[in-house]
Amino acid sequence: MSKDKMRHVCGISGGKDSAALAIYLKEKGAIPDVEYFFSDTGCELPETYDFIDRLEAYLGKKITRIGGEAPFKHHLFMMGNMLPSPKQRWCTVKMKIEPFEKFVGTDNVTSYIAIRADEHREGYISTKSNITPAFPFIHDDIVRKDVFQILEDTVGIPEYYKWRSRSGCYFCFFQRHEEWIGLFDNHPDLFQKAVEMEKIDPDTGEGFSWIQGMSLKQLLERREEIIELASKRRKGEDNRSWQEILLEEGDSDDSGCLICSL
Ligand code: SF4
Repeated sequence: MSKDKMRHVCGISGGKDSAALAIYLKEKGAIPDVEYFFSDTGCELPETYDFIDRLEAYLGKKITRIGGEAPFKHHLFMMGNMLPSPKQRWCTVKMKIEPFEKFVGTDNVTSYIAIRADEHREGYISTKSNITPAFPFIHDDIVRKDVFQILEDTVGIPEYYKWRSRSGCYFCFFQRHEEWIGLFDNHPDLFQKAVEMEKIDPDTGEGFSWIQGMSLKQLLERREEIIELASKRRKGEDNRSWQEILLEEGDSDDSGCLICSL
């Protein structure tokens, strides 16, 4: 790539906002040579892979899959079986940021980021001087309801939003307790894989678990309580569809993982 030429890249996380941005950029047609990419950890939900395929078909343009040179289990082994956590987010570095920076290399790049005009959070912004972030949704005053409209008019809303509030790895430690229950109900095989990655000493209770102070097996024992709490958080029984709940409830409060879930 010529050093003078600016590349335009748009990362797709599998979440609603980045998908809507990709569609928005396509419809605007202002950046014909935009490169779409997806950092594939190899640990995404099946619904995410389906959604990426659907989006790719709609865009009529390849979404380059990056990353995945080494499976998560390899990284986990290298980390001495220490599961990633909000304080030890080696997964994001190894499986998202490093593949992105390798994809970009030393080229001059404008990276389009799907932060909306109604948000007060920052996405991952590289510290590399050859990467310039751009925020079309902020610039064009695109808010949450616009994102939903874009998706409903085109590829639809990813199916996992029925039971989960974000994209990302099936074992993501940012998920709420009720979302772990959702993983168990929707993908018991993946839940079991996550269980097997926990290493807890039965005598001391010390070790590595996805949720601080609680193993996934213990979480399942509290299933009814967790579901009831989640229902109360949603202000009790109501007749809203999952799409309406998703539209009306705020974004997840874990602003720490936007490279994975925008
Ligand atoms: S989605 Fe969660 S588990 Fe996966 S890389 Fe991001 S922070 Fe780590």
